[in-house]
Amino acid sequence: MLLTLSTTHRPASDLGYLLAKHPAKFQSFELAFGSAHVFYTEASEERCEVALLLEVDPVGLVRGRTAGAEGLLDQYVNDRPYAASSFLSVAIAQVFGSALGGRSKGRPELAETAIPLEARLPVLPCRGGEDFLRRLFEPLGYEVEARRLPLDDAFPEWGESPYVDVTLRRTATLREFLTHLYVLVPVLDDEKHYYVGTAEVEKLLRFGGGWLASHPEREAITRRYLKHSFRLTREALARLVSDEAEDPDADEGRRDREEEAVEERISLNQERMGTVLAALKGLGARRVLDLGCGDGKLLARLVDERAFEEIVGVDVSCRALEVAARRLHLDRLPERQRSRIRLLQSALNYRDARLAGFDAAAVVEVIEHLEPGRLDAFARSLFEFAKPGAVVLTTPNAEYNVRFEGLPAGKLRHRDHRFEWTRAEFEGWCRGKAETFGYSVRFAPVGPVDQQVGAPTQMAVFTRAEA
Ligand code: SAH
Repeated sequence: MLLTLSTTHRPASDLGYLLAKHPAKFQSFELAFGSAHVFYTEASEERCEVALLLEVDPVGLVRGRTAGAEGLLDQYVNDRPYAASSFLSVAIAQVFGSALGGRSKGRPELAETAIPLEARLPVLPCRGGEDFLRRLFEPLGYEVEARRLPLDDAFPEWGESPYVDVTLRRTATLREFLTHLYVLVPVLDDEKHYYVGTAEVEKLLRFGGGWLASHPEREAITRRYLKHSFRLTREALARLVSDEAEDPDADEGRRDREEEAVEERISLNQERMGTVLAALKGLGARRVLDLGCGDGKLLARLVDERAFEEIVGVDVSCRALEVAARRLHLDRLPERQRSRIRLLQSALNYRDARLAGFDAAAVVEVIEHLEPGRLDAFARSLFEFAKPGAVVLTTPNAEYNVRFEGLPAGKLRHRDHRFEWTRAEFEGWCRGKAETFGYSVRFAPVGPVDQQVGAPTQMAVFTRAEA
């Protein structure tokens, strides 16, 4: 079983410091199930590649065990020596333990730095197919290259095997990169060589911290990681959600009605959609994203405009997407209309390759639902990776709240809002992001403008400098 890991960060040979393994040495380690060897295939200034080779002893694994109904043959004759599996995770933890923990004695600051990394797993069992492989890694920002291996090179008519030859690329800290491999390789294999108990829940929560709670496949990941134990999976998911974030679907309907009641008097929502629609048309956009589309109010308006040739609604909440599909009558649309619109489940604070290359993105009343600590990740996935030609972004203007009857002073308009910004705060944030990512930005009020406190909603229109 082989894993190779490489970087083109300069000087690339610093990978040796990050892994605490000298590039000139060949090192071997005895593990419970066999041995691990670490050696470098290249260690230059430009590129450095390390190999982790595992020799799993299939006979040693069953020694002392009694034969089950199938006899011992399937335990001797299996894919464990070749295919990446939970043995690889154990080896990563034991052989690259400090790197997996984000520590480096020689290069502590580099351990905190995102560097271009590439991993190759020439034989990765991929139960659930290549599609599942992509759904695991792409929302985390990985570029995935996969080639399905034949069952036997000599007998092509036997068809394909469940194994793929995979290359994963991402600019990340080495800790993040190893953590994702550590958790997701056994998930793809959907098998573990050891007993899974509550200690495994702790491990998953520890290694999944910061990314698993908002991963679109968090349920499948948790279920498979915990070997399909219903009890452990339920516990892990409940703790994930309460530790990390609120369940995006919980209570959404009730809270939306509250916000609508506060804003109702001026039917602000309709006015907002009209203004955003006008901005998108004014930009000449044809292929548009509605990020955090919710129940599809804007999508319904976009579909009615023939200027928009491709419309993609994105939301983290499955329930919201179901409501949007119903509102748009997706199941009844004639084929030509149907092909213009798609709904995708995705978390906006993660890079998602499916969102790249659009003319414009609308982000209407969404940012205030994100944890302030995730705003930077959201800005990067939007402006740096999805990189639409233009972005139309709206958020409440906190200054206006004093004008809403029935909203106690200092309260936010919606219980799920994590913050609401004044005009100066919003403009400051937008200007900073525009400068960082090469956009220009202008601002416009939405709704009736009050002399003192401005309009209830504020809108920013970003256009990409070279667009
Ligand atoms: N744009 C819609 C909905 C706004 S409510 C409208 O104006 O009517 C905010 C929406 O953002 C909700 O549907 C919520 O599910 C979604 N959302 C919140 N956090 C998200 C995240 N991290 N990724 C994707 N969508 C998210």
